[in-house]
Amino acid sequence: MDEPKYSFVIPIYNEEETLPELKKRLGALLERLDGSSEVILVDDGSDDKSYSIMLDIHQQDPRFKIVRLSRNFGHQIAITTGMDFSIGQAVIILDADLQDPPEVILKMIERWEEGFEIVYAIRENREGETWFKRITASVFYRCLRKLTEIDIPSNVGDFRLVDRKTINVFKTMRESNRYVRGMFSWVGFKQTGIRYMREKRFAGYTKYPLKKMLKLAVDAIINFSTIPLRLVLGFGFVIAGLSFFIGITAIYLRLSGVYMIRGWTSLVVLVSFFSGIQLIVVGMLGEYVSRIYLEVKNRPLYIVSNLHGFKKDE
Ligand code: UDP
Ligand code: MG
Repeated sequence: MDEPKYSFVIPIYNEEETLPELKKRLGALLERLDGSSEVILVDDGSDDKSYSIMLDIHQQDPRFKIVRLSRNFGHQIAITTGMDFSIGQAVIILDADLQDPPEVILKMIERWEEGFEIVYAIRENREGETWFKRITASVFYRCLRKLTEIDIPSNVGDFRLVDRKTINVFKTMRESNRYVRGMFSWVGFKQTGIRYMREKRFAGYTKYPLKKMLKLAVDAIINFSTIPLRLVLGFGFVIAGLSFFIGITAIYLRLSGVYMIRGWTSLVVLVSFFSGIQLIVVGMLGEYVSRIYLEVKNRPLYIVSNLHGFKKDE
């Protein structure tokens, strides 16, 4: 088999309901492309029937390859795995649940052929998402824009096409806390976005509960910015100045004889207020330090347990 022109990377975590439809829709798209393709299904530790369905799909159509991870490593690591294994000239990342309609990929390919090295998809709408997710997403993107020095576009997920040249650079970035879309903004190159209507999840439920969403949001801000540290430092200076002033006032009152054992309330308020601030600062420092710790351990990003369809392992 000759080298594929296109690689599709699809992270899969318990998607037994969507896989057959994905195979159908994507299979139809592959026929419309001007070159050969491979589809890398990354099984991110699914514990439903996803893996056996993937094996069937691979049997029927060997262009569909499988990388099975040893456990659930999370969406960002799963797409990294797929990119590591891809060999196509253009790599397209999309979700398994058909929220990212495969047909949009044709437009991405057009832009790629015009010379863009990254073509990302901008969500025009947020169909089928709760108002809570919409509001938190909009607040989050606003904070991210203010806090980071690089320009990470809003309302852009991981659905994108990336040129081989960029993938090769991306593969050298091995940090373990990953915010892949931010990393792609950081690398530069010629980038453009196309707008699309995000569809509802085809079947099943979201694999991004609030906890995973929060982790992604914190990763995004902390991985791309040290501004929170600088903010608390600035705040520390203001508070220190203020307490110096309060100290001077206290000494003055004591010396001038006005001093009485009053002010217990303000004392308690101040002590608890400053302890609170200190805890916040220590906690924030801890976030950065724990990330340093994780990076220093330098563990592999993921562990592969099975491969199907890749040359060496057949
Ligand atoms: N996913 C994954 N590992 C995880 C969580 C999600 O590989 O730990 C996959 C999931 O199967 C899907 C994609 O990541 O293909 C996006 O997840 P989902 O659609 O549940 O997120 P949402 O669209 O609700 O934000
Ligand atoms: Mg989804």
